[in-house]
Amino acid sequence: MKKMYAPWRTPYVKSITKPKDNDCVFCTTLNNHKADRENFVLFRGKHCFVILNLYPYNAGHILILPNKHVSDLDDLTSKERTEMMELTNQATKIMKDRLKAKGINIGLNIGEVAGGGIPDHIHMHVLPRWPHDTNFMPLIANTKLISVDLNDVYDLLKDQFHNC
Ligand SMILES: [Zn+2]
Repeated sequence: MKKMYAPWRTPYVKSITKPKDNDCVFCTTLNNHKADRENFVLFRGKHCFVILNLYPYNAGHILILPNKHVSDLDDLTSKERTEMMELTNQATKIMKDRLKAKGINIGLNIGEVAGGGIPDHIHMHVLPRWPHDTNFMPLIANTKLISVDLNDVYDLLKDQFHNC
């Protein structure tokens, strides 16, 4: 297959593929300061914010995002990347402490082909794990629940993050 390199097309391609920031669910959440509980915003830092994933793979699945609507790590400044990583580190400690997580998965899906659900606004997944992924509620509350309410998870995790 013959490949053609056309770097002059890059700005054009970016302009037609980049949605307006107000179309982005993450930016909408970020800009709506009055609905942090409804949107499960756990923390607002200087460059990044932390939310519960509304469609979690597991209870306590959180996302750490830059305030900037960008799709790649390279679009962030080193300060922004540093805060993202520091908040990821805090998340691991909070999950072990508050959710009794025994393991944690951390990852970025950059680009749609990599599985990014909302690839235009980069987000770090932090996913607590338990042996056999049993519910964490029996461990902390001695209560067996069929499913975990996001509101309960929110209450456990809010006010735990702090500025880096
Ligand atoms: Zn966005």
